[in-house]
Amino acid sequence: MKPFRTHLDTWKQNQEILTDPNRPSWQELDRVFALYPDLPREAIIKEDILRSGLAFTEDALTVSSGYKPKAYFIFSFDLAPLSELKNEEDLRSPEEFRLLGGPMNLRRTTISVRNNPKSPYVADIFEGKMWLFLEGQPVGECELPQHPTYYDKSLSNGKPVHEVAPTIEWGYLIYLTVYRQCQYWGKEEECLFCDINENYRQQKHSGRPYKVTKTIEEVLEALEIIAREESSARAYTLTGGSVTSTLQGMDEAQYYLQYARAIEERFSRRWIGKVVMQALPKPDLIPFQQAGIQIYHPNYEIWDKRLFGILCPGKERYVGREEWHKRILDSAEIFGQSHVIPNFVAGIEMAKPYGFTAVADAIASTAEGLDFFMSRGVSPRYTVWCPEPLTYLGAQNFGAPLELHAGIMKAWRDTHARYKLPVPPGYGDPGVGNTVFSVSAFMDVIKV
Ligand code: SF4
Repeated sequence: MKPFRTHLDTWKQNQEILTDPNRPSWQELDRVFALYPDLPREAIIKEDILRSGLAFTEDALTVSSGYKPKAYFIFSFDLAPLSELKNEEDLRSPEEFRLLGGPMNLRRTTISVRNNPKSPYVADIFEGKMWLFLEGQPVGECELPQHPTYYDKSLSNGKPVHEVAPTIEWGYLIYLTVYRQCQYWGKEEECLFCDINENYRQQKHSGRPYKVTKTIEEVLEALEIIAREESSARAYTLTGGSVTSTLQGMDEAQYYLQYARAIEERFSRRWIGKVVMQALPKPDLIPFQQAGIQIYHPNYEIWDKRLFGILCPGKERYVGREEWHKRILDSAEIFGQSHVIPNFVAGIEMAKPYGFTAVADAIASTAEGLDFFMSRGVSPRYTVWCPEPLTYLGAQNFGAPLELHAGIMKAWRDTHARYKLPVPPGYGDPGVGNTVFSVSAFMDVIKV
């Protein structure tokens, strides 16, 4: 078997030299606050934490263990491999936390946990409460997500419910990864920032009860339990890797459609149904809309033409950038403009060795893509890049500059406002202090 540590040695070597100008610090935060005075500080801090991860002290891990644990719902979303999480952070850290108060009187901000024992952001216990510190100075207090009762339950075949149907976004979203691998294999095809296949290997190696696929019966049984016990879930995402040939004798659309149909037949619009797949032709998508799926995420990952070809070689080869974009716009005729929400990965614009070297150029490129889609009524959303060490890019990058993330946030907010687009559906309430979306601040920066 191919070792899952493909990039581990590179990552370890680079840890020594990646002490870098990009490392989070109060000085850099203050500089970016001053550059972007009209962005909420909560949003800037949120993206700074997401791009660099956070460390937990032993006391903080002891407390966190009593709360909802990180489910590793698709990618690792950590900045260290499992083998380097020496204090079992993978088992003891929480899925998310809410940062609030502190010296800046922060409004409540929901942030996904990305483990990084070397991060200058450190969660620790102070006077009986969990706090987040940066360079030893307090940023804010941390609230942790309650451990849902259904996380302790198992299916009739013994599988834990939280492995089949974890919830994220503070319980708002049920995350159904029904295919834990991607058929874009290796450097010639895999997206260079994605660790879906490597994460699968490392999780299996560590003993987590990961399975490549989930059966429809398992998904339905898990959803029955959630429907009985979990009242805060409002949406589900049906997702997994790309299928370039067949999976269980089906092509990509057929494979994911069987789950959509079964869920909607049983639960008919109880939750907002979303599906993440490649950009597929219209005839493949119509059955999803007819089945009851409301939101489609055909993720375009990065706007720049040159970088798309390099960073998403499989997507470029099998579909092609222009065709991908055309299919995104075509799908709006099926789901409605506001219900097509393609994701991009904010930060990879500047990933070494291929990315832009100037922050302004990277922001301009991403803003061009936002204008392309938003002027046509489609609002992309984004995930802050997590440089996972078992990926080609993560092995040689600490992360993108905070200034880039702030610039993208502003470009997203201003373009969205300029075209007077609706709040993207399926993410809960917008506005700083209200949002549950935890892997970027695009919902936090919407003015309400
Ligand atoms: S298409 Fe790219 S981003 Fe999506 S799962 Fe496959 S390798 Fe990862």
